[in-house]
Amino acid sequence: MRFINKLLNIFFPIKIKCIFCGRDIPDLDNEPFCKECKKESFFNNSVNRCKTCDMPITTKTDYCENCKKERRHFDKVTSPFIYTGNVRKLVIRLKSNNAKYLALPMAKLITERIKENRLEFDLIIPVPLSEKSYKKRRYNQAELLANEIGSILNKPVRNDILFKVKETSHQKELGFEDRQRNLRGAYNVKNWKEFDKKNILLVDDVVTTCATINICSKLLKKHAKSVFVASFARTKGNKMFK
Ligand SMILES: [Zn+2]
Ligand SMILES: [Zn+2]
Repeated sequence: MRFINKLLNIFFPIKIKCIFCGRDIPDLDNEPFCKECKKESFFNNSVNRCKTCDMPITTKTDYCENCKKERRHFDKVTSPFIYTGNVRKLVIRLKSNNAKYLALPMAKLITERIKENRLEFDLIIPVPLSEKSYKKRRYNQAELLANEIGSILNKPVRNDILFKVKETSHQKELGFEDRQRNLRGAYNVKNWKEFDKKNILLVDDVVTTCATINICSKLLKKHAKSVFVASFARTKGNKMFK
């Protein structure tokens, strides 16, 4: 199949563009980004990263200051990119321009990280939007990513378990604690028997202060055995841009 694709590509070259900068890239089998972007510093691959939240840290400790200080209900986060520059633009494009086709290459990159980290899970749950936001956007970008990850790894994706039941005010300027407060009562779970004692992969587009995934994980952990989180990007510090 790969050979046929290559052959087809020679006679009918498909224009593939780098997901980050839009430059043409030559081959279907390659990574979905160009050589120039490969040199960018937006890959979340620094040697020292928090073992819980995957945030780059400068000191040679295992955990970041936030994870030492605040109670984490999730077991581990994995994010292949830092939410900055063209990564940030890409995430915004996925949710604001109806560019659904970006979900597949983005999910492939997340999946590579899931495999590298050997995360074992039974089902995938996307971080939900409120009904109001869903109606406005007409789709949930986290669900698009979750669906693609599910089909690549052949795992069930469930959007009938975790719900956002309360619209929350903008969190842009809020720190972790204020966000936690802001999110109180915002999420709800149903059908707990469906994930009782199971291992969950929670999927979101971006992880920032970890407040959202922490609240969601707390609810899921009442029944689930473990909650891993996979996101396309995460912020480098506690500062937010979302
Ligand atoms: Zn590029
Ligand atoms: Zn951490």
